[in-house]
Amino acid sequence: MKVLRTRTEQEAEERTRLAPFAMASADSAGRVVPEAPHPYRTHFQRDRDRIVHARAFRRLQYKTQVFVCHEGDHDRNRLTHTLEAAQIARTVARVLRLNEDLAEAVVLAHDLGHTPFGHAGERVLAELLRAEGGFDHNRQSLRVVDLLEQRYPRFRGLNLTDETRGGILKHGAHFEHPVPLPRLTPQPLLEAQLADAADEIAYTSHDVDDGLRSEILHPRALAEVPLWRDVSGEVVPRLPAAAEESVVRSQHLIALLDRLITDLEESTAAALEAAGAVSVEEVRQAPKRLVGLSSELRGPFLELKRFLADRFYHHPRVLARTREAEGVLRDLFLLYRKDPSALPEPVRARFSEDGEARAIADYVAGMTDRFAMAEYRRLRGRR
Ligand code: MG
Repeated sequence: MKVLRTRTEQEAEERTRLAPFAMASADSAGRVVPEAPHPYRTHFQRDRDRIVHARAFRRLQYKTQVFVCHEGDHDRNRLTHTLEAAQIARTVARVLRLNEDLAEAVVLAHDLGHTPFGHAGERVLAELLRAEGGFDHNRQSLRVVDLLEQRYPRFRGLNLTDETRGGILKHGAHFEHPVPLPRLTPQPLLEAQLADAADEIAYTSHDVDDGLRSEILHPRALAEVPLWRDVSGEVVPRLPAAAEESVVRSQHLIALLDRLITDLEESTAAALEAAGAVSVEEVRQAPKRLVGLSSELRGPFLELKRFLADRFYHHPRVLARTREAEGVLRDLFLLYRKDPSALPEPVRARFSEDGEARAIADYVAGMTDRFAMAEYRRLRGRR
């Protein structure tokens, strides 16, 4: 038995293992700057590896998901969120015979463009950059992988494949981007559709967990949400009466995740069969997305999301921190604009190419929560 498997052999194996509507590595449209293929890694494995080794990826660890500056050691941050979402995407990709490596790469990169302090940061930068083309985290993720990471002498960015970049950008966009945009079709690739679904399932379920642990969400209020009540009905009778509260909560979370992921797998398989999809191109040109929850579960899932929005994301304790964070980012941006000498040299060096506002926004968006706070204190102290 020959042990070593070359990339070409792995690509051939993909053709037998993956569904015809999965994105085969060998069919990739390639990279903006052509590169010789790797002898042992497929194109999408290589994309994934480049993302994991990126500085922006490591910074996800210190960026908020919902809470600002880690109120608790067990709360999710963007890195743990990303890993949970990637795991869901890989599980589902394997079951549906999709390209696990591509789905994983897209998920690992999907939040790279997120500002510090969760969505607060995104709102502020969008407002400050209104006259300069706006700000959006998907587009910023593409800027990170296309322009802001610097690891190669021949090009800016990571030079990822067209398919990974398309999955990161998500939807059509008209904005200035110095690198040719990835190919965008009426529907994204199934692996990219899956990345979105995995993201949504991951944050919804872990936010319930964080909300309960922080005691911002109350189990009694949650019990009014039909999907949660349903899950409870399944979980509680199985548990010993003396089960610890943390075990009860975890068992609910496990059952919720399993229910959502199983439904996603089964309903997507049914949708693919019903659509008679036989090729990647048919998926791209389809009138609607094929990856998604069943119509039975979609409603209850949206109701759970609405509950989170009302009771968690908009809870006074979370909102107070959000307002504070918005103020910090706005001030940081304006202080740098007023006095660019406060910026590190490499940021100023990009003014001529990227424009001053955009270069500052890239810098501020890339910050971790704690670095943004430290910079804010430093600059305020200087004034
Ligand atoms: Mg996400």
